[in-house]
Amino acid sequence: CGIVGYVGHRPALDVVLEGLRRLEYRGYDSAGVAVLTGCTDASGAGGRGNLSVERKAGRLANLEARLDEVGRAAFGGMAGMGHTRWATHGPPVDRNSHPHRDTAGRIAVVHNGIIENFASLRAELEADGVELTSDTDSETAAHLIAREYDSGETAGDFPASVRTVCRRLHGAFTLVVTHAGEPDKIVAARRSSPLVVGVGAGETFLASDVAAFIEHTRDAVELGQDQAVVITRDGYEVTDFHGGPSEAREFTVDWDL
Ligand code: GLU
Repeated sequence: CGIVGYVGHRPALDVVLEGLRRLEYRGYDSAGVAVLTGCTDASGAGGRGNLSVERKAGRLANLEARLDEVGRAAFGGMAGMGHTRWATHGPPVDRNSHPHRDTAGRIAVVHNGIIENFASLRAELEADGVELTSDTDSETAAHLIAREYDSGETAGDFPASVRTVCRRLHGAFTLVVTHAGEPDKIVAARRSSPLVVGVGAGETFLASDVAAFIEHTRDAVELGQDQAVVITRDGYEVTDFHGGPSEAREFTVDWDL
């Protein structure tokens, strides 16, 4: 239902929770966050990172109480994402809340919309020995991306692995994906479901709705049909689902807060 992503110079958890609060008006039944901690080495390659995830059925206040309970120390990174869920597949319980992770816990996905062919994708994963832990259509995307990253044609290339999986999904989706080993970037994609980028100074935002970030920046980019984007704190790059360059519409949000 509501999606927020952030890579920048501020603690991501605060920015993400604030963004989710601004999307609350849309209604939801569960909420969750993922924060990347760690850094890339000086050459810019070979990141070493950790992915902290917490999610909870019910109001955002439940998630915040849970974060206080486990302690926010593990959520100190400058990149992260959040989700408020409006359940379509599986009841609104903790295990169906987003983010969803692959078995190794390196890749996390938040998803808006419906993956129409999830039953066959799920069967394919199960036949491969993957154990799914939720009833959602969304979780399949996390496992498919992990499998692609580990042994697909684009193995080792995180953005390409996301794009490859998007080409296999039917239905409507906004997907935002993080990888523990790539703590400086977030990859997102959309089909028939909204996704906007917010461009700040040394910080970049992702959201299902500009309301999530307009207190930080008015410079926005609207992704078009079947487009993917990689954001870093320094900017964004839009491609089609094959990785080819693609134009997205830049605009300025001119309404008052
Ligand atoms: N279909 C997904 C689910 O049931 C996403 C729902 C949403 O858009 O919030 O978890």
